[in-house]
Amino acid sequence: MKFSKRILNIAPSATVSISAAAKNMKAEGKPVLSFSMGEPDFGSPKSANDAAIEAIKRGESHYTLNTGIIELRRAVCDYYKRRFGLEYKPDEVIVAAGAKPLLYEAMQALVDDGDEVVLFAPAWVSYIEQLHMAGGVEKVVDTMSTGLLPTKEKLLEAIGPKTVGIVVNSPSNPTGAIYPEETLRMIAEVAIEKDLWIIFDEIYERFAYEPAKHVNIINVVPEVKDRVIIINGVSKAYAMTGWRIGYALGPKEIIAKMATLQTHLTSNASSIAQWAAYGAVEGADEDVEKMRAEFEKRRRVIVDMINDIPGLKVREPEGAFYVFVDVTGCPVPDDMKFCEMLLNEKYVAAVPGTAFLAPGYIRLSYACSMDNIKEGMKRMKEFVEGLKK
Ligand code: PMP
Ligand code: GLU
Repeated sequence: MKFSKRILNIAPSATVSISAAAKNMKAEGKPVLSFSMGEPDFGSPKSANDAAIEAIKRGESHYTLNTGIIELRRAVCDYYKRRFGLEYKPDEVIVAAGAKPLLYEAMQALVDDGDEVVLFAPAWVSYIEQLHMAGGVEKVVDTMSTGLLPTKEKLLEAIGPKTVGIVVNSPSNPTGAIYPEETLRMIAEVAIEKDLWIIFDEIYERFAYEPAKHVNIINVVPEVKDRVIIINGVSKAYAMTGWRIGYALGPKEIIAKMATLQTHLTSNASSIAQWAAYGAVEGADEDVEKMRAEFEKRRRVIVDMINDIPGLKVREPEGAFYVFVDVTGCPVPDDMKFCEMLLNEKYVAAVPGTAFLAPGYIRLSYACSMDNIKEGMKRMKEFVEGLKK
């Protein structure tokens, strides 16, 4: 039996597969603590649940507009106006079954075979594979030695005649870094000068910890707006990963192209989930703030506990809900091996940095309970100390 070259060239999502492995081990009765999935442990906001229940009662059980119900797209426009002062119209917004398909659609709409897209490493696992699915080639700008932020010099070096775009993810998964205004200005100016698209993935925008502040790139350089595709959604901000609702905002020409693709893929995202997302975007600001405050407390605890483990190093992340830990100073400096041993010996699941183009590091999500964090980091300490003997 033959499989396509396309599928054979795609690596499975490490975040998804490791968390599946952890879930399977747990189902076998092993005392697994998972730090692998970037998924808030909170329930969905009441306003989202209520809106979904009402939608079921009203019988909202049919196909919706391909680009999403007008109420949700209007609510997203209102949100962008109140949060960032940005003006978008509903035909500049598309709703999909999560942010992931939107990134895929954007890549498919922009990238021809052999075209290049700049990725800043460490980079979230799906960018590179989705780019490959579109026939594109990654130009990786490593930021590990430059404070997790790209420099202009390295960015310019990566751009050539075949480059069509840049992916920016702030707050970053996996590092939690937030791009400051100067970096965003530099990227926007380069994109304008070189005539490039920017895919601006701000799905973690609600999770910034003082004194850091999340900034939208269009607020820094307004002229960049006609080349930016914003990616956002309800998965992270409202702890609604399972509902599968994401939205993208951008010039209507690109949104229409993404919609064309979507007519042949999913048609529309689930009608009930769209209503739930509407409820969240319209009425869950307080819930989001509570979650943010809780993540901030957990961040403090996990960072302190890791820094107390000799051989491990972690920098305090400014946003999102991940810590990116340097394991090169411990007796098992290979991140793949480290994660495998940690899971098998201590039942603690983490994702190797290699999956994010950053070997020597591991990613832990602290979107789990404080008890998990305390017990998990205790086990990790025992694990690393045990390696020394
Ligand atoms: N972008 C980033 C940076 C992510 O971490 C994720 C993870 N979920 C996504 C996009 C996709 O989000 P969704 O679950 O809405 O598809
Ligand atoms: N984005 C989350 C993560 O990085 C969820 C899994 C995925 O979609 O990759 O863990």
